[in-house]
Amino acid sequence: MDPKFDEIALKDWFNKQKRSLPWRNNPSPYAVWVSEVMLQQTQVAVVIPYFQRWMQLFPTIEALATAPLDEVIKAWEGLGYYSRARNLHAGASVVLSHYDGKLPIEASELAKVKGIGPYTVGAIRSFAFHQKAAAVDGNVMRVLARYYNIEEDICQPKTLKKIWYLAEEILPENESWVLTEGLIELGATVCTKKPKCLHCPLKKTCQGYIQGTTDELPYKSIKMKTEKLYRAVAVVRNSAGKILVKHVQTGKVMSGLHEFPYFESPSDGIDSEELVNQIKEQLGLKVLWKGGLPKIQHSFTRFQVSLFPHNFHCRDECEVSDFQWMSAEDMKKIAFSSGHRRLYEMIKNKCIF
Ligand code: SF4
Repeated sequence: MDPKFDEIALKDWFNKQKRSLPWRNNPSPYAVWVSEVMLQQTQVAVVIPYFQRWMQLFPTIEALATAPLDEVIKAWEGLGYYSRARNLHAGASVVLSHYDGKLPIEASELAKVKGIGPYTVGAIRSFAFHQKAAAVDGNVMRVLARYYNIEEDICQPKTLKKIWYLAEEILPENESWVLTEGLIELGATVCTKKPKCLHCPLKKTCQGYIQGTTDELPYKSIKMKTEKLYRAVAVVRNSAGKILVKHVQTGKVMSGLHEFPYFESPSDGIDSEELVNQIKEQLGLKVLWKGGLPKIQHSFTRFQVSLFPHNFHCRDECEVSDFQWMSAEDMKKIAFSSGHRRLYEMIKNKCIF
């Protein structure tokens, strides 16, 4: 039989230890929605300034829905996983047109809004509307798998179902939202990858701790495989001082963002002569190599990317399909994908404009 969950210990701990976070001061449905989407795959410390700036730029669902997508992407620049920003924007339009600009309280209606999955439905209903609702993210999964000593594979749908069931089962009638948020907080701060069990309010009843299995749980059969990418990037500047930039089209991985032209490359880069030829063949531009720039390494989703940037000069400003020539002023207003943003910062700081 499952042990009785120590709801009082967790609530007491949460009420005393919870971090002061901007979205907790005024947990409106919109603030909870934005913060929860930002927090997916991103650390709290990174999210805080983005959240604050976002709420100034788009203080209401209506302001977000009516803002141009480019502005929304720009406000998200650097957070990664840009589909989250596109879905927030599209979701805000749905809420504006179908729900008069207010997020609905019913789970079935919330789930119809683009980008709102089961976890976010639970978080909005619990934190903002104070409904009796569970919200199971990776943190909660980890806490409950350890607490109930669940040894089954958490990649299996039936294990996920079991954890969701338990998360709902333990909700008390009284202030259930404190427990829902407390579980998330415990997973984020105490029951972390390397759990700090000695500081945990649940250690007296946690089955994983009692049975010494916390280091092995939760068990995950599928590990994400990382893939390495190598790209030579061309910073092509023309005689008017403008630089060639592409606005990635809808449907592509970095859609809505901007990038410099790049070419897949071997792991040690491409030599300058070969690059000059590729630029001629693929972009139709005659360029002069002006030197290499320091290598940039970054990661997105499961990819580890090495960028090998080079400077080029092009005498003409001829049109290049899918690209634009941009001045330094133009480039201040656009959003770059993460590695190309670092390259943009580098060339800006080196005064290459
Ligand atoms: S006692 Fe340890 S394993 Fe159990 S919930 Fe607390 S931190 Fe996690």
